[in-house]
Amino acid sequence: MSELTLSSLKKSFAGTDVIKGVDLDVTQGEFVVFVGPSGCGKSTLLRMIAGLEEVTSGEIVIAGKTVNDLPPVKRGIAMVFQSYALYPHMSVYENIAFPLRVEKLPEDQVRTRVSEAARVLQLESRLQQRPGTLSGGQRQRVAIGRAIVREPRIFLFDEPLSNLDAALRADMRIELTRLHKKLGATMIYVTHDQVEALTMADKIVVLNAGRIEQVGSPLDLYHRPANRFVAGFIGNPK
Ligand code: ADP
Ligand code: MG
Repeated sequence: MSELTLSSLKKSFAGTDVIKGVDLDVTQGEFVVFVGPSGCGKSTLLRMIAGLEEVTSGEIVIAGKTVNDLPPVKRGIAMVFQSYALYPHMSVYENIAFPLRVEKLPEDQVRTRVSEAARVLQLESRLQQRPGTLSGGQRQRVAIGRAIVREPRIFLFDEPLSNLDAALRADMRIELTRLHKKLGATMIYVTHDQVEALTMADKIVVLNAGRIEQVGSPLDLYHRPANRFVAGFIGNPK
């Protein structure tokens, strides 16, 4: 079942083409990784899917419905960024509950959803702490908790681990993969890190200068790269 379809998607900023015609189909429950060098358009593509950036031309379809003109909150999407600003004066509980307070969800539902997110992310014993008292990995989990409570159809992650050190990044990769299995949600994960792409993805989308070079499983791309760019990029993990 198709969860997200991008058709002939284009974006230009002040006459400069940044996304140059992207076609992609994402199946419900897939973990898709967008990988490519800095400046190739990964964040722009994600922001267009989220509704944070207007589409220049082409179409975005989520669960069978064209969403080009829908505001972000109506798309069933939650995004986790690289620099996740938590509210330092609020408890972990209130940080995770925040999007639901904005939506004015009834208190009993807020409590249920925050408890469930905390359980999944193993933050149950931290709920009354302030973010400043947590480790980097725990803080990143709080940011992910804020996405989970919204119960989105699709999670978008924009280089969520790039501010963490190597050991923690490796742990978080495993945690995110486990989270994906647990939730069964569709996830799109952006990184410039080949190792992350190869270890986490069901499907890798290799981007270069606003175009897709190749789409395939990690094994496909590693063993049968479509061209030199893909071979060089996937074959040389840094
Ligand atoms: P990536 O996330 O792959 O590093 P981005 O999507 O951030 O790449 O950027 C792709 C290109 O679009 C870059 O050349 C960047 O400078 C340009 N760009 C991104 N956002 C804007 C903007 N708001 N205005 C003008 N140019 C932009
Ligand atoms: Mg980016």
